Amino acid sequence: MPGNTALDNTPVTDGGRVAAAYRRSMSSGRARLAEVLGGHVEVESSGAWLTTAEGHRFLNVGGYGVFITGARHPTVVREVERQLRAHPIGTRIFLDPAAARAAELLTSVTPPGLERVHFSGSGTEAVEAAIKLARLNGRHRLVSMTGGYHGKTMGALSLTARETFQRPFRPLLPDVEHVPFGDAAALAEVLGRHPGEACVVVEPVQGEGGVVIPPPGYLRAVRAACTEHGALLVVDEVQTGLGRLGAWWGCDAEGVSPDVLLSGKALGGAVLPVAATVATQEVFGVLDRDPILHTSTFSAAPIAMAAVSGAVLAIREDGLVERAAALGARLTPELERIVAARLPHHPCEVRGAGLLIGIEFADPAMAADLFMALVTHGVIANLSLNSDHVVRLTPPATMTDSDVAFLFERFERAAVTVAERNPEYEVLADA
Ligand code: PLP
Repeated sequence: MPGNTALDNTPVTDGGRVAAAYRRSMSSGRARLAEVLGGHVEVESSGAWLTTAEGHRFLNVGGYGVFITGARHPTVVREVERQLRAHPIGTRIFLDPAAARAAELLTSVTPPGLERVHFSGSGTEAVEAAIKLARLNGRHRLVSMTGGYHGKTMGALSLTARETFQRPFRPLLPDVEHVPFGDAAALAEVLGRHPGEACVVVEPVQGEGGVVIPPPGYLRAVRAACTEHGALLVVDEVQTGLGRLGAWWGCDAEGVSPDVLLSGKALGGAVLPVAATVATQEVFGVLDRDPILHTSTFSAAPIAMAAVSGAVLAIREDGLVERAAALGARLTPELERIVAARLPHHPCEVRGAGLLIGIEFADPAMAADLFMALVTHGVIANLSLNSDHVVRLTPPATMTDSDVAFLFERFERAAVTVAERNPEYEVLADA
C-alpha cells in the first residue's frame, strides 16, 4: 500500500511522515498539536536530555513528573535488561520473584503501616484499585478536592474535578463530592454528614491543578478528620511521590500515614509504565479472601517489576530525595528572580515544593506563550492539565550543574522572548 509506513521494517523518523502516519493511523488532533510545537520527532533520551531525529537536543524538565531518575538511569536499565533476557512476562500461574522483590523494596520506603501492594500499569488504574478497595471496605461515598487530578478512566475521572474532562462522559460514579483543596474544615463538615461511609482522595500538592501547595498541617488535619469520621484516606502520590517534593512522599513531609497510598509515573524509573496501590493490611485484607476479584493481565508483569526495583534502588542509592530537595531550593528562587527581572509587568507567581515547580500567570495566554518560548529555546516543560494558567517544571533530580546553568540561561531567554511578544502589558502597567 503506497505511503503506508507500517509496511516498512524500520521506524520512520522524518517529521512529516511521522505526522502523516499519526493522522492516518492514530490521532490527527495529536499530530496538529505537535506541529504547533515545531513538528519534532523524539528518538533518544539520556539523563535530562532528549534528542530529536534531526539531532536537536532539548533539556527535559517536563515529562509530566515521570523523570525523577532522568531517562535511562543505569540502575533501572540494568534491572530491566536482566529481566528482559530472563523472563519479561509471567504465566500468572506461578509466583514471580521479581514482583516479590519490587513489592518489598517499595514497601521499605512507604510510610509505616502501608504493607500490601497491588501493581498496575498507570496512575488512573491505581486510583481505580483504591476506589474498589474503598467499596470493599464499606466506603461508598467519594470525596476529592477541587482542582484535583486523578486520571481519566471512568472511576478516576469521577474524582478528577474538571468540567471539561467530565462533561462528555456523564453519568460518572454516583455519590462523589468535591471540596476546596486546602480547607480541612470544609472536608470535616462533609465527612460529618456521612460517618463511616466516605473515602477521601487527596494529593499532598496538586500537580495538574497547577502546583497548588496547601497550608502547612493540611494533610495532618485531613488525616484527623478522616479518623474522626471513620473515612478511609487515600493519598494520591502518583505525581508527588518518590522524591518529587524533596521527601520520599508528601505524606512523610507531614508525618501522615494514609490507609492507601498511590504511586505511578516515576515508579517505572522512566523506563517502563507502572503504578501501585499500596494499602494497610487491614484495608487490603478483603482482597486476600478472593485474589481474582481485582486483576488484570499485565498487573505486576516481571519486566515492570524489574523497573520498580531499579527505580527504588536508583533513588535510594543516588540520594535523589535529598538531591531533589537541594535542587528545588536552588531552582525556584532563581526562576522567581528571572521572572521578576524579565517580566516585571506581567502578574505572575513562581512557587515550588522540591522539584515540582509552577509559574502561574493571571492570563493563560501568557502561560501558553512561555511554554512555547521554552520549547523554542530548547527546554521541555508542561502546562497543567487542570489549570492552563500554570507552566509546570518537574526536573530530574539527577540534573548536573551544567544542566542547571543551561536551564537558567534558556529560561531567561524564553522570558525575554515572552516580554518582547507581549508589549501590551508594559503599556497597561504604564497607564
Ligand atoms: N494522579 C495524579 C496525582 C496524577 O498527577 C495523574 C497524572 O497526571 C494521575 C493520577 C493519573 O495517572 P496516569 O496519567 O498515569 O493515568
